[in-house]
Amino acid sequence: APSAVSRPTMAMERSYIMIKPDGVQRGLVGKIITRFEERGYKLAGLKLKQADEALLKKHYKDLVDKPFFPKLLAYMISGPVVCMAWEGKDVVAMGRKMLGETNPLASAPGTIRGDFCLEVWRNICHGSDSVENADKEIALWFGEAEVVDHESAMQDWIYE
Ligand code: GDP
Ligand code: MG
Repeated sequence: APSAVSRPTMAMERSYIMIKPDGVQRGLVGKIITRFEERGYKLAGLKLKQADEALLKKHYKDLVDKPFFPKLLAYMISGPVVCMAWEGKDVVAMGRKMLGETNPLASAPGTIRGDFCLEVWRNICHGSDSVENADKEIALWFGEAEVVDHESAMQDWIYE
């Protein structure tokens, strides 16, 4: 195995990716995880959680004044979500591309929303829109001990 000494000390970013209640109920958890795994991203945090209103108001703090917020809240507390922290090169911007557009009908086939859903209220997943927000969202949804620093055995085959 490559030695720890030769390993590049890349400052890897993380994104908060969340499978929404419809994605969980439709049995899409494995497929969505697989996409990030196969791309080469590393899982740093993972859990199933029933969100509540207080948590969602913090998570969607920029949207709380929108007319659609009550509906968004009802959607997001309608069942458990899968919370994930994915780590790797450009994972925030790439995660958004992998998700597709907010409106699934505007999402290209090949994206998660473009392959698995049709409606903005059933758009199955969330992805952080900036590195700064990703850090905030990971800190909001996970306890400190739930996000794990670890080395992937595949790292040197994915990164040069
Ligand atoms: P996202 O970052 O692509 O998830 O989109 P936003 O952060 O703007 O919105 C949060 C979520 O609110 C979306 O993913 C939808 O589930 C829901 N939503 C429903 N209707 C609307 C709408 O008219 N505009 C936006 N932006 N979001 C909507
Ligand atoms: Mg958003």
